[in-house]
Amino acid sequence: MKPAPFDYVRPASLSEVLALLAKHKDDCKILAGGQSLVPAMNFRLARPAVLIDINDIRELDYIRSDDSGLTIGALTRHAAFHRSVVAGPLGAMLSKVASNIAHYPIRQRGTFAGSLAHADPASEWCLVATTLDAAIVAKSTRGERTIAIGDFFNGTFSTDLEADELLTEIRLPALGQGWRTGFYEFSRRAGDFALGMALAALRFEAGIVREARLGVGGVSDRAIRLRKLEARLVGGAASPQMIDTIAHEAWASVSPIGDIHATPEYRRDLVATAVRRALAEAAA
Ligand SMILES: Cc1cc2nc3c(=O)[nH]c(=O)nc-3n(C[C@H](O)[C@H](O)[C@H](O)COP(=O)(O)OP(=O)(O)OC[C@H]3O[C@@H](n4cnc5c(N)ncnc54)[C@H](O)[C@@H]3O)c2cc1C
Repeated sequence: MKPAPFDYVRPASLSEVLALLAKHKDDCKILAGGQSLVPAMNFRLARPAVLIDINDIRELDYIRSDDSGLTIGALTRHAAFHRSVVAGPLGAMLSKVASNIAHYPIRQRGTFAGSLAHADPASEWCLVATTLDAAIVAKSTRGERTIAIGDFFNGTFSTDLEADELLTEIRLPALGQGWRTGFYEFSRRAGDFALGMALAALRFEAGIVREARLGVGGVSDRAIRLRKLEARLVGGAASPQMIDTIAHEAWASVSPIGDIHATPEYRRDLVATAVRRALAEAAA
């Protein structure tokens, strides 16, 4: 199918983008990489009257790193993470995760921010942002606000962004000394969306876990942080026995969705496997 008729604008400045959002609100859509929006328009699942293309706003294309973490501008493509963007476990983990997103050409266009704004529950970046406690910066003509990731996702394809707001920046906390990470995803074919995935980050001191982050994605209407299980990991050595216990508790604690791709029971088993493998990688 072809999209419904729409007007296309390609502003040259951020202030112009914000003015257009304020003017058209629910009648417009931001076009970033177009890798989710354009298919949705072709299927007429999205029918924006005005398409605001932000690809000329080069000031939104950046990754900055300092002691507090990583700041990712709205035009940063998935492919920017093919190479490690920061030394240490955070950069290595982001590279591994990026290689699981779609296919090479899609990664050249699609953006980190577009994935979060689109809020697909099977998005790898949504899992990363949720598990690592990202902060989201949104701008409008009314000003700027920072949204904690826990308040950002409202459910499948739904976020806290107002119709006149542009997601301008994502902030990820640093993973410094002692942190190790693990990521596991299962999809039917390379490049498909995940049927289930897990991300683990553990900070060790003398072999003991002092901080833990654990999340699962692709099984619910949004990525889930398993905070109770994180607390269980702290103070222990993340032994194989402990990892088995945590994987079983993850299995018991989720209520996965079922669809044409997998039953809830299948996804629940996948959660246990993904959590076990992600934790084992982080603890290795
Ligand atoms: C075949 C195929 C396979 C795919 N597989 C995967 C996969 O395995 N994992 C995965 O995560 N994704 C996958 N994707 C989706 C892809 O990663 C998209 O790039 C991503 O979901 C959206 O990013 P985008 O920049 O293309 O956004 P767009 O398609 O341009 O926009 C998506 C939505 O977000 C809004 N938006 C975009 N940027 C902003 C912003 N800065 N502020 C406010 N709103 C904004 C748009 O208005 C639109 O509603 C796949 C896509 C295809 C076509």
